[in-house]
Amino acid sequence: MIDKKLVAGGNSGNIIREIAEYGAEQAKKIGAENVYNFTIGSPSIDPPPVVRETMERYLDSVSAAKLFTYAPAVGYPTVRQKIADYLSKTHGIPYRAQDVIVTCGTSTCLAVLTRVLLSCGGKAMTFAPYFMDYKYYAESVGSSLIECPTEPETFQLDLNAAERAITPDTMMLVVNTPNNPSGVVFRREGLEGLAALLERKQKEYGHPIYIVADGPYRELVYDDQESVFLPEIYRNTIDCFSFSKGMSLPGERVGFMAFRQDMDDRDDLFAACVGVMRAYGYICVSSMWQQVAADCLGATSDISKYKENRDLLYGSLTEMGFTCVHPDGAFYLFVKTPEPDAEAFCRRAMQDNLLVVPGDSFGTPGYVRAAYCVDHGTIERSLPTWRKLAREYGLS
Ligand code: PLP
Repeated sequence: MIDKKLVAGGNSGNIIREIAEYGAEQAKKIGAENVYNFTIGSPSIDPPPVVRETMERYLDSVSAAKLFTYAPAVGYPTVRQKIADYLSKTHGIPYRAQDVIVTCGTSTCLAVLTRVLLSCGGKAMTFAPYFMDYKYYAESVGSSLIECPTEPETFQLDLNAAERAITPDTMMLVVNTPNNPSGVVFRREGLEGLAALLERKQKEYGHPIYIVADGPYRELVYDDQESVFLPEIYRNTIDCFSFSKGMSLPGERVGFMAFRQDMDDRDDLFAACVGVMRAYGYICVSSMWQQVAADCLGATSDISKYKENRDLLYGSLTEMGFTCVHPDGAFYLFVKTPEPDAEAFCRRAMQDNLLVVPGDSFGTPGYVRAAYCVDHGTIERSLPTWRKLAREYGLS
């Protein structure tokens, strides 16, 4: 007997896979330049030059046997120390090496923390729209994800809705800012309100409620927008970070989670995470890449290119009559569909080789996500097709 929820987890996301596969097939037939593929959130910009220099330095100076050996499960002490120092210096919260676990991106943090925090029967909560994997993580451990709506149109936090959604079962709240899929950066005011609400609820229910700060896009903010470091405003926050997006290293699988020293049940939480990583078979993060990434902390790829893409796509689409929330971060544009059925809109766009993903996959029907981490030319070439759709749906 195979658990149906696990089976569903493996089979879901079909529409996204279907669209992506269609795109790959079309690219072979008509040439990649004629397919406007906005489906995948994979960086298109090279990592900063320091990454290559650092990698070459390691390759030239450390023997292969040493460089590619098993690393400690929680990461090299030197790597953990560099991360702790960086966080302490950048955000003013004192972290020590022993507060850091090096992980295979934020995915590992999310899967492990979900298992740890929900194993005694609690539930997870997040704000819609949200990254779909949160749901699979919760369901795969026999729990569920409560989806809390955000403010319509702006997708900023709605504290009244949050108050209604939190129950005595709520053990963890996943907060993703800058957000996938909306590109919204949650404002400090809303986040501070959320922190105060959680403090109150913790007291009322007599147990901690942890924020899992899913921050792979933390550095991807534009126009001097503030990207709040959540542990700064809420003690029971586990900071989850990844080198996948800002440093353009998604395939190398490096990230970390960091625990505030003064959080509730800190030692048990930390030990349980190490135990679950072992149970899930996370032996260690790539020995070389964790050292390279830690040496390059703070460096990002040239994100001004994403901003140029954002400005062109957002400016053009809104001028054509599409409604989209202004994305202040990440590399996604969330576009309201001119018909309620977002999947139907995606299928229509597909006919003209414009590939976007329905918002239903992110807990928000009536929208599509366009990942604009593509080359600028793809956006330019896609505009006549967007315009054609706008006309067809009577937007302009
Ligand atoms: N969280 C969000 C919101 C994401 O969009 C992604 C990837 O797209 C992840 C987590 C996982 O990324 P990684 O494991 O590469 O850090």
